[in-house]
Amino acid sequence: MLVIRCKNCGKQLESHPVRTRSCQCENYTSIRGTSITGNDLSLIEIVRDDRISNKSVLSKKDLEFQESRKSRKINRSLLDSIDIR
Ligand SMILES: [Zn+2]
Repeated sequence: MLVIRCKNCGKQLESHPVRTRSCQCENYTSIRGTSITGNDLSLIEIVRDDRISNKSVLSKKDLEFQESRKSRKINRSLLDSIDIR
């Protein structure tokens, strides 16, 4: 899902697969599916883009998983060295 905001009137528009959503101000900010149109695109702000945020969340989780695995490895080797003693 895509959420955009028209900076001109401050209205937020949620994307819809088949319906066109538009604000009613003079910038004519509108969104249909993933295509965004308007008189001045610099007045349109992307508030939420699930396609992008999902990816970043996944890669962040992957990184965290790798980090936790790394630290677990270190802990285990520490335990091993203690066992040896
Ligand atoms: Zn507007």
